[in-house]
Amino acid sequence: MDFENRIVSPDYCFNQDEAELSLRPKTLSEYIGQDKVKENLSIYIKAARQRNETLDHVLLYGPPGLGKTTLAGIIAREMGVNLRVTSGPAIEKQGDLVAILTSLEEGDVLFIDEIHRLSRNVEEILYPAMEDFSLDIIIGKGPSARSIRLDVPKFTLVGATTRSGQLTAPLRDRFGVLLRLELYTPEQLAEIIMRSAGILNIQTDRDGALEIASRSRGTPRIANRLLKRVRDIAQVEYDGVINEKTASAALSRFEIDELGLDDFDRKMLTTIITNYGGGPVGLETIAAAIGEEAITIEDVYEPYLMQIGFLNRTARGRCVTQLAREHLGLNDRPNGGGQQSIF
Ligand code: ADP
Repeated sequence: MDFENRIVSPDYCFNQDEAELSLRPKTLSEYIGQDKVKENLSIYIKAARQRNETLDHVLLYGPPGLGKTTLAGIIAREMGVNLRVTSGPAIEKQGDLVAILTSLEEGDVLFIDEIHRLSRNVEEILYPAMEDFSLDIIIGKGPSARSIRLDVPKFTLVGATTRSGQLTAPLRDRFGVLLRLELYTPEQLAEIIMRSAGILNIQTDRDGALEIASRSRGTPRIANRLLKRVRDIAQVEYDGVINEKTASAALSRFEIDELGLDDFDRKMLTTIITNYGGGPVGLETIAAAIGEEAITIEDVYEPYLMQIGFLNRTARGRCVTQLAREHLGLNDRPNGGGQQSIF
């Protein structure tokens, strides 16, 4: 299985998530869960609107697929302004950012996904733009070079990142509002699935939705994706209705177990148990042992495994818990903590 096509990967995947646009909630009241975030945002939006001001810059952080892009769209809509969407890696040169900023209209929301991946010299342009809505541009080269100051329209920057710790301090400090998105509970995901099923015209009962929800790793993007895959199987092999039985049969076919773990997770946990006595073992060592990038393990696999109590991050490394051993049926090995090499 390659990582790009992993069905429970929370990252956007063009051929699996093409219906996302139609499924995106458009208002805060349609946005399910994340109650604290919604409550804070609605106050800030109301206050800014009453004062007739632009909203303070907002930083959204949390694992992929939890609804950061969706929230940026909602903020723009609730503020009654346009949304411009770009991402850190897409803004290669200072000129790219200058072009975006100077083409904004007063009050617009600029959404920069993966903002931690902006290059340093692009970031430097952003500081005065965020603070004073102005740009310092150098014109010319060598001794004749001079700096000019250019005003840009007042705008709200909504930045998204998987971890706020990845941001440089000067950039993080320029955000007035920092909001952390949490993984969703199975009940919230079931609600999201019922909503999506309504939009896509898929017949689903509550138990079927809950069955899909409990295997969606706390992530709406995965829940919507599994819903569509289960629909195909329910349509071809059953009477088209998604209930607990059809959902469970379909999901087992994809080798996603009842907690949403797939081969990748099982391989990682089993490797830590069988080769490193259950841990503690360093992230880089795990990455080398299972042939995956450390950052992917940290951002994509670990949040959910920690949420369900299967993995702990300690100062000395990662440790697999007793709960995970029981789930995997690898209960008989004592946790010696010793490090055997698998090479
Ligand atoms: P991110 O930007 O964090 O990767 P997205 O905003 O693209 O995530 O969300 C992925 C999909 O999940 C969206 O298409 C949307 O339909 C769905 N989604 C996310 N959060 C919610 C929510 N709170 N309620 C309903 N659907 C949601």
